[in-house]
Amino acid sequence: MLLNIKDLHVSIKGKEILKGFNLGVNKGEVHAIMGPNGTGKSTLAAAITGREGYDITSGGIEYKGKVINDLEADERANMGIFLSFQYPVEIPGVSMTNFIRTAVNAQREYKGLKPMPASEFLKKMEEKKNLVEIHSKLTKRSVNEGFSGGEKKKNEIFQMAMLEPSLAILDETDSGLDIDALKVVAKGVNSLRSEENGFVVITHYQRLLDYIVPDFVHVMYDGRIVKSGGKGLALELEEKGYDWIKEQFDN
Ligand code: ADP
Ligand code: MG
Repeated sequence: MLLNIKDLHVSIKGKEILKGFNLGVNKGEVHAIMGPNGTGKSTLAAAITGREGYDITSGGIEYKGKVINDLEADERANMGIFLSFQYPVEIPGVSMTNFIRTAVNAQREYKGLKPMPASEFLKKMEEKKNLVEIHSKLTKRSVNEGFSGGEKKKNEIFQMAMLEPSLAILDETDSGLDIDALKVVAKGVNSLRSEENGFVVITHYQRLLDYIVPDFVHVMYDGRIVKSGGKGLALELEEKGYDWIKEQFDN
């Protein structure tokens, strides 16, 4: 199993947010996680990727058969875990090309490989640029500096394409994406989907799943998964909203 989360409990500043979360993702699968605001979806993404301040108090996260609870975020990234849709940071003075080259080579070093030769890197850049339809003028600019929302999104998907993660976690955030950004994201995900990787797509709204068709849909409420199903579950949620879940599980 690519990702195996077992009875995960996570606290932020002593407050328990994830309360016994379970999820298994095999290679080749796309799992969607939906749920009302404040149920811990972004906390889940942070816990998997190892963001600081998210304390695992019990349970475990296994990735490629290894418990990663105590690994630094950098090491998890080097092992092939990618998180998109965080609030993207701007890095003045660092071109996207150099930023991505550094990330690609850090992962290669972790695997005991030499830095990617320049010619190979440039060839790969061209190939992946076409995939996300990103323009060269964007990759020459400083990372995210003055980028529009849509450009930042393209940039992230481009990074994902270059890094070829084994596990990609996409957190749509509650503000949602405009339709153009959704299409960029979906196109990227759909062209990168393979039998060798897995995706966890977190979304409050159903509409992203019109473009990225998941194999499994899970509904999260109050820090755990309360219902799982196929892609039809997303449509059911769109129709019925989340109130029935709240009614069923609040007491
Ligand atoms: P979702 O992504 O499903 O909307 P979050 O994971 O962002 O939910 O938040 C889950 C809960 O954790 C909320 O009650 C939120 O207020 C709380 N929370 C999130 N981040 C922090 C933080 N940095 N400090 C304190 N509480 C937080
Ligand atoms: Mg969130």
